[in-house]
Amino acid sequence: MKLDPKAMRYLSSEDFRVLAGVEAGSRNHEVVPTQLIVQLSGLRGGSGVHKSISTLAKVNLIAKVKNAKYDGYRLTYGGLDYLALNTHKKNKSVYSVGNRIGVGKESDIIVVAHSSGEQRILKIHRLGRISFRTVKNNRDYLRNRSTGSWMYMSRLAAMKEFAFMKALRENGFPVPEPIAQNRHTIVMSLIDAFPLRQISKVPRPAELYSELMDMILQLARYGLIHGDFNEFNILIKEEEDPDAKGKGRESEENDESIRLVPIIIDFPQMISVDHPNAEMYFDRDVNCIKRFFQRKFHFTSDVPGPFFADARKQLVENPGKRLDVEVEASGFSRKMARELEAYMKEVGVDGDAGAPREDEDEDGDEEEQSESDDDNEEEQSENQADEVDESAHKLEDLHVSKSPLEA
Ligand code: ADP
Ligand code: MG
Repeated sequence: MKLDPKAMRYLSSEDFRVLAGVEAGSRNHEVVPTQLIVQLSGLRGGSGVHKSISTLAKVNLIAKVKNAKYDGYRLTYGGLDYLALNTHKKNKSVYSVGNRIGVGKESDIIVVAHSSGEQRILKIHRLGRISFRTVKNNRDYLRNRSTGSWMYMSRLAAMKEFAFMKALRENGFPVPEPIAQNRHTIVMSLIDAFPLRQISKVPRPAELYSELMDMILQLARYGLIHGDFNEFNILIKEEEDPDAKGKGRESEENDESIRLVPIIIDFPQMISVDHPNAEMYFDRDVNCIKRFFQRKFHFTSDVPGPFFADARKQLVENPGKRLDVEVEASGFSRKMARELEAYMKEVGVDGDAGAPREDEDEDGDEEEQSESDDDNEEEQSENQADEVDESAHKLEDLHVSKSPLEA
């Protein structure tokens, strides 16, 4: 599933209300019965609603699902993208949408712009995209958890990532600036840098290596383990170091005037140092860097570790603020963290270091189960689509510079 902002221009305010109605209905129905959509959209006259439903289905913002018990519709990723982007647009965090620059296993990364022209990054979480077939085959899983859907989990991932990015940024860690979060998406500052993986030469690997290890320790001092600390999630900015001008100019390789500044991204899997598997994740982060430096730069450190015991020790001797606790207090609760963790485990999300990246199953979410286990016991509690956005019909002024589909 790709973000297709083009479709956004053509929705009437009624279409939008119906779309918001399908979203509201999705909270407790895998497949939202047509009659419920009519109710939730809060529009009078069923025929208009039916027309909107067919418009939305035509542009793939919702999809028809034939069910054993009833026919209905579900929101697609496209529909959810639309709703989120509309909110970002309304709140002025996004003005235009540019190219998709990255497709992760669990996300799409898109360059967007603010009305000032400043470029930003929109990260759209798509949890379970790759592994959707596994989930699909596991009926019990869906049955037991009506909220355990990709939609809810992708939202949790976005909430978590935003909360951690904010806490890290406020405490001086080199991370992008978090700007906004809505549904399964976040908007953050664009880092003009390449991932470490794409850097072929580093002037002084020992220096960068120890800086990265210090960062792992520093995170732990603030109660955190990144959990996916690797060459994909470390962006390397090249900065001129004015103090070093003139020194060590003998060769390019040893150019002291260039300083490599690592910026850390990708936080949905971040954990607390109190997590039962903290040591395993800590060691994995350390070893990822070790292995990468050996392989790529033929650099092996003489210094053993760092070890989790060192990290624990500094928590006693020289603790930082406990950001794990702070994030929990900020609204990303322990319960949410547990739900997200369980889901990630179940659908096999194990960070960038896991299986090779694939792009082939992008449309997997469009062919999910054709029947649902949803029962009538789940009477809708909402009579209104509570997030109906009246400004939706003004989307024609979402100046879409270029569709990522054309990129
Ligand atoms: P995933 O969770 O799918 O791994 P990431 O957040 O790691 O997603 O982003 C994937 C890629 O997109 C990164 O490796 C990087 O190249 C690019 N990227 C992500 N965020 C930014 C940003 N703020 N600025 C520049 N590039 C980014
Ligand atoms: Mg990543």
